[in-house]
Amino acid sequence: MPEKIIMKNPIAELDGDEMTRVLWSMIKKELLEPYIELKTEYYDLGLQNRDATSDSVTTEAGEAIKRLRVGVKCATITPNARQMGEFGLKQLWKSSNATIRAILDGTVFRAPILINCIRPAVRNWKKPIVIARHAYGDIYKAVEFAAPGAGRAELVFTDSGGNELFRDTVQDFKGPGLLMAMHNTEKSIRSFAHSCFQYALGSKQDLWFGAKDTILKVYDQGFRDIFDRIFEAEYADAFKSAGIEYFYTLIDDAASRAIRSEGGFIWACKNYDGDVMSDLVSTAFGSLAMMTSVLVSPDGCFEYEAAHGTVSRHYQRYLKGEEAATNPIATIFAWTGALRKRGELDGDARLAGFADALEAACIKTMESGVMTRDLTALCESVTPRAVNTLDFMAAIKDNLN
Ligand code: NAP
Ligand code: MG
Repeated sequence: MPEKIIMKNPIAELDGDEMTRVLWSMIKKELLEPYIELKTEYYDLGLQNRDATSDSVTTEAGEAIKRLRVGVKCATITPNARQMGEFGLKQLWKSSNATIRAILDGTVFRAPILINCIRPAVRNWKKPIVIARHAYGDIYKAVEFAAPGAGRAELVFTDSGGNELFRDTVQDFKGPGLLMAMHNTEKSIRSFAHSCFQYALGSKQDLWFGAKDTILKVYDQGFRDIFDRIFEAEYADAFKSAGIEYFYTLIDDAASRAIRSEGGFIWACKNYDGDVMSDLVSTAFGSLAMMTSVLVSPDGCFEYEAAHGTVSRHYQRYLKGEEAATNPIATIFAWTGALRKRGELDGDARLAGFADALEAACIKTMESGVMTRDLTALCESVTPRAVNTLDFMAAIKDNLN
């Protein structure tokens, strides 16, 4: 066996919860540590430790990604009221992804991993569709409450000099109701636009942006205008020479066009739209377990993760003694993404080459029909063999060696 790769600089490693925490340690032990002298700054974002540290560990992890420029994150539980009781939490901690995104800002790019024996549910899709999700603000940083009864709800803006500039009635409630206010910042929308235009140029794919400016004539129109201005001023020529285009359309039209397309484009989505569309698109391409995700910050920091959650249902069965049969591909690709980026930034061709080789071994394994059971039902053209997670990793390791 060749000598282990020694990393020049560390990456931030953010451990997580439930089934993906189990996958995390399996991946390190089986597929990484035999080949690489892993250099990481480890942050335990498991729910118990977030609670024990009053969630300061999440902030420290976000700051570590900013400092080291590359991070890899395991899926984490976003606790609900039931889990608050079950884990005896001090507080209903916010989504760790939301906390990290607020620190890094930027855009999340999600791309499905395609293999030749799984045909997308949408017959005409031939190439991946990349969802570019704005990762700051909107409902993820909203203020909300329940109005207890009749009364007036207002939206007020007071400038930093103390002058009230706007006041508008949201609703004169006749009885109990619900209320929310959300925001975004021009700075964040601008960096969202730049990330999307740059990613489109880098990958030579068309860029679509869909929002609802016919209804939100200030909010969504504001997004649209910022994209248009930045495009005309800074990217129109480069797009032309690259032979790609940018266009804006209503989100519902974008959804319908996406289904009729053959794929091969980037779909820029506002935060919530991107949350929903990335699950829809990844599932239609095969499985949530085959969707990669990277958060790119405007100052060039990268956080890689799987797009799926902690796969709680599998974890409940695992706790009862059932063997793990969860698909580790998206989590493996989170690691390879981070290691390749570390290699690129450090001029370390061996490390980047290892990431390529591990990804190729994963694809080769699945294309030979060896896969986890979430994929077997989708598989055409080869006879699939369903294996558990450890046997799947062993097959990947054989191909890698
Ligand atoms: P999920 O973990 O993505 O799982 C939903 C279902 O998708 C699973 O039950 C499973 O279906 C299938 N699936 C997802 N990943 C899979 C994999 N790797 N292999 C095989 N099947 C897979 O979503 P959830 O159950 O709604 O959420 C669980 C927890 O994750 C929640 O606490 C949520 O807050 C959190 N979450 C975290 C992140 C993140 O940290 N990035 C993202 C989303 C959700 P079957 O059961 O039918 O096999
Ligand atoms: Mg989601």
